[in-house]
Parts: sequence; C-alpha cells; structure tokens
Amino acid sequence: MLLTFWFGIWRQLQASASPVLERMIDRARRGWGADCTIRVLGVSFDAVRAFLHFLYSAKVAPEEEELVGAHGAQLLALAHAYRVGWLKRAAEAAVSARLTPERAVDMLKLARLCDARRLYLRCARLAAKDFSAVERSDGWRFARRHDAALQLELLQLLEDADQRKERWARERAAQEACRQLGEAMASLDHIFPSDGPARGDAPCDKAGCTCRGLQLLMRHFATCARKAAPGGCARCKRMLQLFRLHASVCDRPDKACRVPLCR
Ligand SMILES: [Zn+2]
Ligand SMILES: [Zn+2]
Ligand SMILES: [Zn+2]
Repeated sequence: MLLTFWFGIWRQLQASASPVLERMIDRARRGWGADCTIRVLGVSFDAVRAFLHFLYSAKVAPEEEELVGAHGAQLLALAHAYRVGWLKRAAEAAVSARLTPERAVDMLKLARLCDARRLYLRCARLAAKDFSAVERSDGWRFARRHDAALQLELLQLLEDADQRKERWARERAAQEACRQLGEAMASLDHIFPSDGPARGDAPCDKAGCTCRGLQLLMRHFATCARKAAPGGCARCKRMLQLFRLHASVCDRPDKACRVPLCR
C-alpha cells in the first residue's frame, strides 16, 4: 500500500517517529517537493493505519493495548523495520501475551527476523512445554517441509529445555537429600543430647522436628531380623550410614557423645 505524507504533518511526527521513515521522507522531499509517497508491502491496511496512529500519538495508551494486540505481529514487523523502539516493545509484549501453541513457530520466526529476544524465548518455552500442540500447528508442518534450518533450531531449543529440566530436577533432588540429611542429623542431637541421657523413644519437645522418623528407624533396627542377612536391610543400612556420618562430623568433646558408633 502507499502512504502519503505532507511535510507539515511530518513535522508533528518528528519527536516520536522513526529515523528510517524520516530519512525516506527527507530523501523523497528533495526530489518531489512537499509531498512524498512511501510503499509499504506485505502488511494490511488496518495494521498500517494503526502503525501511523501510534506514530502520531507517540505513545500506546493503556486502553489501546487491544489495538496493538489486534495487529501485534504486523506492528512488530513495522516497528522493527522503521526502528520505532517503544512501539516495537509494546507490540512484542502484546504478541507474547497472546501466544498460543498454534502460532508459536510462526512467531518464533518473526521474533528471529525482528530480533525480538523476549518473544523468541517465550516461543521456545511454549514449544518445550506443549510440543504436541506445537507439532500439530501449520507453522511446524511448514517448517518440517520447507525450512530445515528452522526445524533444526526448534529441535535444538527443545533439547536444551529438556536438559535444563533434567538438571533442575537433579539439583532439586540433591537439595532435598541434603535437607533430609540435615534434619536427620538434628534429630540425632535431640535424641542423644550432649547434656543429658539419651531420650530413646520419648517424644521430642523441639518445635517442627522430625525425631519421630528416626526413633521409629532405631526401633526397627533393634528388632530387625534381616540386618545381618546377606544383602542386609535397606532401612538398617540407612541408619548405620546416619550414625557414621554423625561420627565423621561430631564436634562434641571426647567420650561426651552417646550417639552409637561415635568415638
Ligand atoms: Zn527432635
Ligand atoms: Zn532392618
Ligand atoms: Zn557424636
């Protein structure tokens, strides 16, 4: 489509407008006088009208978010091409907020073309989260048939996300194991206090403590028939490991500690 600008109107635009558009208009004005016409290809009339509306008003008012959303992808492309940073950010946010698995591949392509990092990551995350829906989309089918590079990029992103998820799960498991171990060691201190007799099976008065589990484990150990059997008993082994671990870190004075296997 064609846009016609008059110099006077353009003057009003200067503060907010695009350096690219400004250069094009300047160049055209030198040749043709006060009017100039610019060809804008590949976008709908309504999107260009919205683009010009925002350029003239130099801002996106809160109530206009819907208008940005209605032409989000095209506004993003226009704002990127004509280097209107603030409008590009608004369009990127609007597209991100309306992202669906069906559009994820197309929007990822757009984000890459427009150098829109936030939208790109958002698409990648959505693809990783709901790949079966993304796989059914026209965008993915098209990429698989005609755009091997994009398909490869997507698969790479998914693999990265999988690895991140695995690493995160491993870290969580390790943290959880550390937490449980810390609790068990604290329970040993409660059951075998350094300044008194062992508590044995008596309930613990420390708030939020998990002595009960360890007390049950010790009671099990006392009567377990399998602890000496070949292969042993997993619960008994766990308890012995706890005692040994305590012994290796115990800082009580010599002979003052009653935890089994300590000293
Ligand atoms: Zn306790
Ligand atoms: Zn046992
Ligand atoms: Zn000890």
